[in-house]
Amino acid sequence: LDDLMIRSEKMNVAGQLAASLAHEIRNPLTSLKGFLQLLQAGAQHKEEYFNVMIEEVDKIESITSELLFISKPLTDNRSKEKVTKMMQDVELLLQSQATQKDIQIQLQSSTEASILCDRSQIKQVLINLVKNAIEAMEQSGKIIVEAEEIEHKVKLSVIDEGCGLPEDAVHRLGEPFFTTKSSGTGLGLLITKKILSNHDADLHMYNNVSKGSTFEIIFPKADDEAGIDE
Ligand code: ADP
Ligand code: MG
Repeated sequence: LDDLMIRSEKMNVAGQLAASLAHEIRNPLTSLKGFLQLLQAGAQHKEEYFNVMIEEVDKIESITSELLFISKPLTDNRSKEKVTKMMQDVELLLQSQATQKDIQIQLQSSTEASILCDRSQIKQVLINLVKNAIEAMEQSGKIIVEAEEIEHKVKLSVIDEGCGLPEDAVHRLGEPFFTTKSSGTGLGLLITKKILSNHDADLHMYNNVSKGSTFEIIFPKADDEAGIDE
């Protein structure tokens, strides 16, 4: 019975995802068709139309590429990875995007701990969280990416000074396609949650007392059992 329930629950999630996917892709397609018809009828303002059409195609493109990531079976390519190394890689990747908004990404760590993980997946998680942090901030400020070790667990936090979580919809964060951004896909946190649950890691998110929000990941430490440390 348990097995059956899990299976039907999975079907349900897949069904919901397919329904919202159809919706999310149909909207930009409808708009594309409208503009094509206007152009076919010999419309003026071609330049503007092309710009909007490219935006719509971009939207479909980012939705499909994120969906491909979700549907990919998670290859379990796990090894012991230093969290500080992955933080540095992600900082390097997103530095220019941050600098464009005069945002500083600050790395802090009081641990050299490793976690057992699929390196590219955990980097994807960090990219999603830091990207969201950058997008939540208007202009200037700092994002802290921090690693700490607490009671045999490794805690990774991304702390921003942005707009804060949408109070009225906190429970919807991570729902497929839930976004408050005009050009968002609403798939980043879904992917993040999927990867983290596959790593037996917990994700907490909350608004800071002062400004912005914090996303916190708690990993089991890699050397819990083996007792090997570096
Ligand atoms: P997207 O970034 O495409 O909107 P996500 O799944 O990454 O999709 O995020 C979903 C929503 O969660 C965002 O649209 C935003 O409302 C909220 N959110 C995520 N990260 C933050 C953050 N750091 N600060 C404020 N809101 C956030
Ligand atoms: Mg995002």
